[in-house]
Formats: sequence, C-alpha cells, structure tokens
Amino acid sequence: MANLEQTLVLVKPDGVSRGLVGEIITRFERIGLKITAMKMILPKHGDVDRHYELTEEWMQGVYEKAKKKYADLGQKFPYSDHKSYGESIKTGLVEFLKSGPIVAIVLEGEQSVALVRKLVGATEPMSAPPGTIRGDFSLDSYALSNAQNRPLRNLIHASGTVEEAKKEVAIWFTDAELHHYEHVLGSALYNSSFFLPKK
Ligand code: ADP
Repeated sequence: MANLEQTLVLVKPDGVSRGLVGEIITRFERIGLKITAMKMILPKHGDVDRHYELTEEWMQGVYEKAKKKYADLGQKFPYSDHKSYGESIKTGLVEFLKSGPIVAIVLEGEQSVALVRKLVGATEPMSAPPGTIRGDFSLDSYALSNAQNRPLRNLIHASGTVEEAKKEVAIWFTDAELHHYEHVLGSALYNSSFFLPKK
C-alpha cells in the first residue's frame, strides 16, 4: 500500500527573485510528486510568525546545527545562548520572508515529507550535497550569514514532519485551494498491477 503524504514547500524570496521557481518545481514534478496547490503571495506577518513557531526545540535545533558546523571547521562558535540566538534568527527570518513574494506549494506522494527534504538538502547550502536544491543553487554559509547578521539564503522551506506539514498547509491554504485530480503518473507509481501482462 502506498503511504501518500502531503508536504508544504515555500520558495523563499531569494528563490523567487533569482528566477529559480521553475527549476525547483521541475525537480518535484520529475520525481513523481503531484502538485495539489500552488500560489504566489506576499506573506503577512502573522502567517510567517505562525509558520516559524519559536519553540524551545526549534531554538535549540537552530543553535546546535550552527554550532556543529563551526566545530567541524575547528572554529569557536561565537554565541553561547540558544534562546537569544534562536530569537534573532527568527526575527530576521520573518523579515526575510516578508521582503518579497514567495511561492507556496503543496506536494503529494509516497512519503513526500522525507522525500522533499532529501531533494532540498541540508539547511546550510555550503554543506548541502550537489544534486540537492540548496547544494546546486546556493553557496550561502553560516559564516557569511552570521557575519552579515541575517538568515541563511537557502531558497526554500520544506516541512520537517507529517504533523508539521499538516499545520503548515493549513496556514497557507484553505481547503478549497487544495485540488483533487487524477495524476497520470499515479498509475505507474502506485498501481500494483500496472506493469503486469494485460489479460
Ligand atoms: P530548515 O529550513 O532546513 O528546516 P530550520 O528549521 O532549522 O532549517 O531553520 C529555518 C530557517 O532559518 C533556515 O532555512 C534558514 O533560512 C534560517 N536559519 C536557521 N539556522 C540559521 C542560522 N544558524 N543562521 C542563519 N539562518 C539560519
């Protein structure tokens, strides 16, 4: 049985202004994901604020990921408090997302949450492997973004878990904006008898 999930992608203002929307969507379409909703919007403060919830877990994650990268490079991480670090990232992130239009997309397919994260790559483009969206189209780093006191310009957001995806889809789309239609690839990917000899 297929385990179809929905996941939310936002092409951030850097991805839109660099003209990478088509490149990014192509990668999701060609792997077999179905687009069930899509729109370009200038985000409202409240929506971005709800999207990036300032939880203890998020602040800790943002802090630890950056700290690890500095340690891997043999450098001292110049911040000691995950709360103030996380809060300043969040403030910058909200302003960044509101700085220009973004493209919000809902994608559906087999284990789409993890699959899309794989295609997107690591948070820091400089560490994201070639072949991933962030690895192929950006060279931004913690070092550069922290020196410039701004969030990483990593082109795209993708939901981290199925639960997060549900919350995020509901922030950006109404039920009426989620489309139901037959995707031709669905048969080749999910129909168990599709490649059996026809009787
Ligand atoms: P991801 O987008 O990979 O799920 P997070 O949820 O940890 O990453 O962070 C959300 C966004 O905040 C990132 O995509 C990035 O734009 C920005 N960000 C996270 N950590 C940092 C950091 N240490 N320095 C600058 N920007 C950051």
